[in-house]
Amino acid sequence: MYYIDYHIHPGYSVDAEDISLFTYCYQSLQLGLKEICFTPHLEVDPARRHLDWFVRVDGCRYPMEHAYWLDKYFLELDQVKQQFKTSPLKIKAGIEVGFEKGYEKEIEKILANYPFDFVLGAVHCLEHRAISSVNECEEYFVSRSLTHVIKEYFTTLELAVKTGLFDCMAHLDLYRRFGVKIFGPQILGAHNGLIEPVLAEMAKRRIGLELNTSGIRRGLTEFHPGRDILLLARESGINIFTIGSDAHQLKDLGDRVPQAAALVSQLKLPVHIFTARHPFEI
Ligand SMILES: [Zn+2]
Ligand SMILES: [Zn+2]
Repeated sequence: MYYIDYHIHPGYSVDAEDISLFTYCYQSLQLGLKEICFTPHLEVDPARRHLDWFVRVDGCRYPMEHAYWLDKYFLELDQVKQQFKTSPLKIKAGIEVGFEKGYEKEIEKILANYPFDFVLGAVHCLEHRAISSVNECEEYFVSRSLTHVIKEYFTTLELAVKTGLFDCMAHLDLYRRFGVKIFGPQILGAHNGLIEPVLAEMAKRRIGLELNTSGIRRGLTEFHPGRDILLLARESGINIFTIGSDAHQLKDLGDRVPQAAALVSQLKLPVHIFTARHPFEI
């Protein structure tokens, strides 16, 4: 099996363990992964400058807006590609962009300046609150209705898709991560009627959909997105899928990738890798 992990946060992400690309590559070989893609966070919302706008380089925190860290990232990528060039492991240069309406130009500029293989788009924040964070989302969710949250989420996701800036969308039902505890099982059907136009737009633009295995590590019973949304995606004509662990720690690298691969194969969802931002079926 050609196992891939297309969502890995190395030490550049301040919410991740300080682990080098080399260590992740070495561990990938041990795990039998054939191809990996690093996806450090890029966040662009100035309202969250004090919260998210940091990266870690050589153990120190730097403001994210200094492109210095991306120069360093690509340099380190070149080094590991050299070090592992005789190994069976393929290493790709990716990034996970937290979409924020109104900052498309900033994102575009950064993406145009570096030779990325894969750009993963994500909606992490709604109304400047991180729904990916247990601390922030509780305050956000309890003061709003489920209808409001879900509408906000899919409106933002649709805008993100329509920018055409992203190759693939990450953890499509991220709101389920902490929302299930607050809103209950009702949240599981909340996408109905809102997700379909987004999936249709993704299919039209040939944007991929990620199967993100982190849901189960966080106590959910399914991956992101759940099987119901995967089936809707297939019906909508999406035929590009990736698999990613969303590892923020070395121990999560490749987490449940074989199970995810079995699920996509069962559902006949074609898994893709990316080179220079072009998808190739594996
Ligand atoms: Zn994410
Ligand atoms: Zn991530």
